[in-house]
Amino acid sequence: MGDSRVRLLVVEDDKDLNRQLTSALELAGYVVDRAFDGEEGHFLGDTEPYDAVVLDLGLPKRDGISVLEAWRKSGHRMPVLILTARDRWTDKVQGFDAGADDYVAKPFHMEEVLARLRALLRRAAGHASSEISCGPVSLDTKAGRVLVDGNAVRLTSHEYRLLAYMLHHIGRVISRGELVEHLYDQDFDRDSNTIEVFVGRLRKKLGVDVIQTVRGLGYIAAPPIVPQNPGRAG
Ligand code: CA
Repeated sequence: MGDSRVRLLVVEDDKDLNRQLTSALELAGYVVDRAFDGEEGHFLGDTEPYDAVVLDLGLPKRDGISVLEAWRKSGHRMPVLILTARDRWTDKVQGFDAGADDYVAKPFHMEEVLARLRALLRRAAGHASSEISCGPVSLDTKAGRVLVDGNAVRLTSHEYRLLAYMLHHIGRVISRGELVEHLYDQDFDRDSNTIEVFVGRLRKKLGVDVIQTVRGLGYIAAPPIVPQNPGRAG
């Protein structure tokens, strides 16, 4: 296979953990480069074409968040799985804001890291076209852009995440609780009324009915129903 194998970068300053990760990933058939501090990690991710990165956040010389932000700023879109401390929910929020694709909390089972990486790689491969469409609405997950009938619509990050989540689950009823769970971290106000406000604003901005209310259950993303009476449009 040689060069066609999937290339990964592991950035972790804990030598034992770095070794464990690297050997587990190599055993799984990946080609793995490793870095032990933020500067080295940043340099490698900036100059080598990796298919995915495992990035610790607490790193010497340069912290993981800043490394990730710098990569994203330079346009590197490879999936990044961050490693966070178990109880630091702020890490997760910062990590996602900085452009992480997923996280694993320490201490973790190696199997979980492998499974999450497989999912990220699969997603990245499937998103060669990174566009999800629902009727007139299309969302470009790579560019973070939303179009309605080809016209760009500006959304806040919360509205964008809400829409992206709904569109990743087209046709499935999503409860308010699930949306709250996805949009906010544990420590945020879990008032589901806020979700209604967000959905309301999102609908207004989109101007088309792709997010429908399912009474008592939540919401569903589906292409708008075409009016049966053609006279209605006139
Ligand atoms: Ca560390």
